[in-house]
Amino acid sequence: MAGPLPYDHLFKILLIGDAAVGKSSIMLRFTDDSFDDKLQSTIGVDFKVKMMEVGDKKIKMTIWDTAGQERFRTLTSSYYRGAQGIMLVYDVERPETFDNLNKWLEEVETYHPGRGRDVVKLLVGNKVDCPRAVPREQAEAWARSKGMLFLEASAKTEVGIRQAFEEVVHKILESP
Ligand code: GDP
Repeated sequence: MAGPLPYDHLFKILLIGDAAVGKSSIMLRFTDDSFDDKLQSTIGVDFKVKMMEVGDKKIKMTIWDTAGQERFRTLTSSYYRGAQGIMLVYDVERPETFDNLNKWLEEVETYHPGRGRDVVKLLVGNKVDCPRAVPREQAEAWARSKGMLFLEASAKTEVGIRQAFEEVVHKILESP
């Protein structure tokens, strides 16, 4: 006999953004509490599972990483389908990864079944342990104008990583 499910909610959370901004590193820091300076971009991980408790609720998260496919621009509907949360990641050291966020947002609007409206979006400025080239205020203002949450993080030093996932989960739980 199957008992009750071991969780109250199942959420699919995606990481998107340019190559090498740190998407896999953010995922691995959160799910395995590990960091690798020489992470191979072809690591090939599709998704990882992580349990989290919020109040008395158990949340099961599947966290999806692009596994390098963004290089070939082959992320399509199946990747986006069913996602409740999307983290758009840029590298604070490389302004071009910030400039490309509009393209990523367009992609969400094209491929996410709800055209990106009924999904929680969080902008993550990763690698804050490095010298920054993208001002925090600029990123914050852009995120606000797009109705997105925002924070800066470092998968290397752990700053902001847990908070990023918590903010997304809280916001999903608050959504109608
Ligand atoms: P992805 O292609 O977006 O998945 O990026 P990766 O997670 O493969 O990271 C690309 C490179 O940046 C790797 O060499 C990581 O070790 C490095 N990296 C990722 N996050 C950070 C960070 O917060 N700080 C620093 N200094 N390096 C990072």
